[in-house]
Amino acid sequence: MDPSPVLVIGAGPAGLAVAASLGRRGIRAVVLERTDDVGASWRHHYERLHLHTTRRWSGLPGLPIPRRFGRWVARADVVRYLETYAAHHGIEVRTGVEVTRIARADGGGWVLETAAGEALRGPTVVIATGYNHTPVPPSWPGAERFPGELLHASAYRDASPYRGRDVLVVGAGNTGAEIAVDLVEGGAARVRLAIRTVPHIVRRSRLGWPAQGTGILVRHLPVPVVDRIAVVTSRLEVPDLSAYGLPRPTTGLYSRVMEGSVPLQDVGLIAGVRAGRIEPVAAVESFGPDGEVVLADGSRFTPDAIIAATGYRRGLEPLVGDLGVLDERGLPRVHGARTAPSAPGLHFTGYTNPISGMFRELRLDADRIAAAIHRAAGKRSDETI
Ligand SMILES: Cc1cc2nc3c(=O)[nH]c(=O)nc-3n(C[C@H](O)[C@H](O)[C@H](O)COP(=O)(O)OP(=O)(O)OC[C@H]3O[C@@H](n4cnc5c(N)ncnc54)[C@H](O)[C@@H]3O)c2cc1C
Repeated sequence: MDPSPVLVIGAGPAGLAVAASLGRRGIRAVVLERTDDVGASWRHHYERLHLHTTRRWSGLPGLPIPRRFGRWVARADVVRYLETYAAHHGIEVRTGVEVTRIARADGGGWVLETAAGEALRGPTVVIATGYNHTPVPPSWPGAERFPGELLHASAYRDASPYRGRDVLVVGAGNTGAEIAVDLVEGGAARVRLAIRTVPHIVRRSRLGWPAQGTGILVRHLPVPVVDRIAVVTSRLEVPDLSAYGLPRPTTGLYSRVMEGSVPLQDVGLIAGVRAGRIEPVAAVESFGPDGEVVLADGSRFTPDAIIAATGYRRGLEPLVGDLGVLDERGLPRVHGARTAPSAPGLHFTGYTNPISGMFRELRLDADRIAAAIHRAAGKRSDETI
């Protein structure tokens, strides 16, 4: 076996899962993490967040999530699980190491440059820096004139600072919708939800069957078939909210997933909208001369705060942008066990957004990546005999 450890970048669920799977095959991995601990993303998500995938289908290789964490695991318990996971598998994590660039090493393999000026070398690298890496700030013309508080959803913790205040949440993805619910329950005076693209809404669970289960079952069916199934199930499960400004989407659910947008799992949006406590409004277009919000339908108002759930970028360009391994959307051209012919030994994991649940896919990917690395290491040692 090759004595150089596999270098894994990122100690989130993806990186830890790969390191554990490599360890189970007798391959040493060193995980490089820019923050002080494992599970950094989950330490900073908003307080009320729970996994919307089930505990059973979210466990990583070699250690299930404990039963006591319940069916929908709370954010803090996800962090606890990841800490236990790293300790259980004896994963070697080097914290405080930010990889800034990956370059080809002379004679083969890779050199990882770090923010501290180190150069780490190895034949095999797994990039697991996260799908939700860099918050995308809103780019509305005139936003600098807004007199209130404007923050990205990644900086939102809980509703306490917004008690009694008029808040506009922008973006009706899972994060925006759940923050809107949190604000209502946390005592905000008024909550509006600005929507550019009407979301597909699914029940997190129906008669005990989780939406994730359906996602797993239909994952490999043709997109138009799943789109049609979704129309039928949506009519059965989700009331018509058109009268409240939230019509049913006109493009298919799975077609949208293929474009990178997973359906919205209802954790209170439907009830909030029907009770008139969450007001769907048109998309934000710009800001007026006095800093007021201008919506696509021409209406104007000035909330106390705006929370922009405007998504994240992968942020892979500084790391590997000059290696020819990214497509025009900044996503890796190949993923998981496969590596690009021009970049042998350079794996990516965690850069898809599947309806079957990301933790589940990270688990499956980790095993495949470890098997591929095991095979490649075997070949390398045969060649040196
Ligand atoms: C709000 C929210 C809710 C979600 N809920 C679910 C859910 O219910 N079920 C589900 O299956 N999935 C869910 N996901 C999706 C996904 O499972 C999580 O985002 C998960 O954390 C992804 O794991 P990861 O390891 O790929 O990325 P991350 O957890 O983001 O981990 C990446 C790690 O890499 C580190 N890092 C980044 N750049 C560098 C660098 N240059 N050098 C060194 N270290 C670096 C980061 O600090 C971080 O620790 C959710 C995502 C979000 C945003």
